[in-house]
Order: sequence, then C-alpha cells, then structure tokens
Amino acid sequence: MIRKMKGTMDIFPGEALEFRRAEEVMRRQAALYGYGEIRTPVFENTELFVRGVGEGTDVVQKEMFTWTDREEGRSISLRPEGTASVVRALIEHGKFSEAMPQKYFYIGSFFRHEAPQAGRSREFFQFGTELFGAATPEADACAISLASSVLRSLGLAGVRLHLNSIGCAECRPAYRSALLRYYDEHRPELCETCRTRMEKNPLRLLDCKEPGCRALAAGAPRTLDCLCESCRAHFDTLCGLLDEAGVAYEADPAIVRGLDYYTRTVFEFIAEGIGAQSTVCGGGRYDGLVASLGGPDTPAVGVGMGLTRVLLAQKQQGVPAPETPAPLLYIAALGEAARGRGSVLVEGLRRAGVYAESDVVGRSLKAQMKYADKIGARYTLLLGDAELESGRATLRDMEKSEQREIDLNRLADEIR
Ligand code: ATP
Ligand code: MG
Repeated sequence: MIRKMKGTMDIFPGEALEFRRAEEVMRRQAALYGYGEIRTPVFENTELFVRGVGEGTDVVQKEMFTWTDREEGRSISLRPEGTASVVRALIEHGKFSEAMPQKYFYIGSFFRHEAPQAGRSREFFQFGTELFGAATPEADACAISLASSVLRSLGLAGVRLHLNSIGCAECRPAYRSALLRYYDEHRPELCETCRTRMEKNPLRLLDCKEPGCRALAAGAPRTLDCLCESCRAHFDTLCGLLDEAGVAYEADPAIVRGLDYYTRTVFEFIAEGIGAQSTVCGGGRYDGLVASLGGPDTPAVGVGMGLTRVLLAQKQQGVPAPETPAPLLYIAALGEAARGRGSVLVEGLRRAGVYAESDVVGRSLKAQMKYADKIGARYTLLLGDAELESGRATLRDMEKSEQREIDLNRLADEIR
C-alpha cells in the first residue's frame, strides 16, 4: 500500500468545492483591484530563493525541497513562496521597463519542509498579490484593502489586521543597535537558535516562536519608536487611509515577518480560534527585492494568503459548506433497452445544459431509486418497455411528490 507523502493532502470533491469557492472570491476581488493573473513554474534555480527569500531565513536554511538536476548538475528547489519567482519572471521578460504600476496575483501550491500540523503542511496553497512601481502609502492601502475584501467576501469579517512598520535602511541601524543592547542583557534567556540570530539578523529574534523568546520579545524596543521621519510619515498616512476606508487594524510591534526582504509596512491578518497557526495572511512592502535580484530599483508591496487556513477559519466561523450539485433529473431504467434509451436521453439533456443522470450500473429498480434519492435528484423518470413503445413516461417531482405524464421527445423542454 503506497501512501501519500507526509504533509500533503488529497482533496475530494466536497472540499475541492470549498477551495474553488475561495479561489473564485480571490479572482473576482483581484480583478476589481486591477490585478492580473501570473503563473510561474513550481520549481526554480535554488539560487533564486536563496537571494530572494534570504540566506538567513528558516525557509532557506531548513524548509526547502532541494535536489540536484541530473543533466546539468545544478541545484533546483520547489518554490517555497511566490514573490521571488514573480520578480524573476518580470525581470526576465523586461516588464520593469513597461508602464508602472503593475499588479499581479497568483494562486498555486508551495512547498516547505516543516512539521505538519493543523494549518501547516508541506504542500500548501496560497493566494498572493504583488504591486510593483509604487512607494506610496496608497499602494500599501491597496494591497491591504484587497486582502481585507477577500477575507470579508469569504465570510471572515472578524479576522484582525495587525500592522507594523519595520523601517528602512536609514532607520534600521539605530533600531538594530537598540535591539542588540536589549538582547545582550538577556542573552542567557534566549533559545539556541536566537543566539545565532543575534549575530546574523537580530530583527528575526522578534519572530521566534519559543515561549521564552516570545516573552522577551514583548519587552523589546519597538521599531515604531525608532522610525526615521519619512518612515513615520509613511506609516501615519497609511493608518489614516485605512481609517478612512473603514479597514480596522491594530498596531502590533511583534509583527516582523519571517522573510528577509521586507521594508517599512508589514502586516498579518490573524483569525482567532483556528489553532496555533492563526495567521491566515501575511504581507508587506519590499522595496529592495527587485534590485537585489538584478532588476531596476522598484518599490513593491505584496500579500500571501494561505488557502487551508482560510478554509479552517470559514469552518470555525460557521460559514456553510458549498452545496454539492444535485442532478435535476434521474432516469431509472427497467431492462437493457430502457437503459440504452436513458443514457441517450441524459446525453441530450446535458448538451442542453441540464445536469441529469441515468443508471450506468445495471441495478434493480429499487436500488436505482435509492441512489436517485441519495444524490438528491429533483425529478425522476421511469423507463420500461411500455414507455419506450408509447414514447411517453411519468415524470415524478421528488420534492412535491407529484407526477405527470410527459412526451419523451420533448424531455428537455419539459424539464426546464
Ligand atoms: P508562519 O509564521 O505561520 O510559518 P510564514 O511567515 O512562514 O507563516 P508566509 O511565508 O508569510 O508565512 O506565507 C503567507 C501565508 O501562507 C501564511 O500566512 C499562511 O497562511 C500560509 N502558509 C505559510 N506556510 C504554510 C504552511 N506550511 N502550510 C500552510 N499554510 C502556510
Ligand atoms: Mg513559516
């Protein structure tokens, strides 16, 4: 017996409908905000993610599925996130020389080698958006409003937006030394990973999930208190725009985001009550990324939303599951000739855009009627030798328990 790989999922029709409903909301909202779909490969040169996500991140250090290509001997990885690939594609196709801003969204699967649990898998699905070529707070507000509209349209109005600014290259050094001073005093209380983080990227100390480190992070200096003048103004304007748009948020100094490329605005949408993995959506501004991947200096702001966590939140909020489509008509057949005619009749209905079923198993009439009931057919039609001969049959309304005789040649019209 071969089983699926750890941390992957098989999605059956009922759940696939939930995914599809969510994806349709995402596509509709993305279109309203002027985002066009982009599809990029699920595997790329490992180098892209090392440079694009950041050498020192957990994603690059521990979570990538990486292998050596057998022809060229180069290192390849399954994509752990979407932004680096989108930027690569735009650089490769010369898109940064075209008119700005440019807005893209994607929906797809991503891969990270982490410990599976509720809301955390090794293959997972993300809706992501990227807006390039705009450094204004209005662009941040656009990215946040789109994510917020998606969540609202999914029935998740209660998901809370946590907002922070982590500053820019200008204010980062002062903040970094304030942070290092603070953590130097608390070095013995830090977990082992965080002690190495102190050397490499002290900002990541605030993102550690260890309880001891979380407690320390709560008392650490806040980026919001160390912003330079222009970062401060950017943040304040963004807050004002969100206020005016009626998008609720709370300033949260603990939000620093796991990936290296963020500047200024960072945010997460958090759904209480779906377990430890409560961040349904994370994003922020990454003004340095395009240039660091070899493109022209281009500001950008983006969002990543986890599909599985969104579905968990919908269940937790009592959003009803989408209904499985039921056939309008089930044709039950007595005997081989009737079965043949039944299958021709349903084919005609399907061509006319009506979902209909007939018996393809060759079961007893009783079993057929039981099945029709199980799949929720609204009408049933019984075909036997007599019906074939007369060309007329009895159409039964299962809901109203009514029946009437119809002409088989006019079945599609009668049904509609
Ligand atoms: P976390 O802190 O939960 O590990 P992250 O910061 O690593 O999240 P991002 O890289 O920002 O996550 O990805 C954006 C969104 O994608 C997350 O908010 C989450 O909803 C989803 N996501 C990330 N990793 C996983 C995973 N392994 N399984 C399911 N969803 C995930
Ligand atoms: Mg993670």
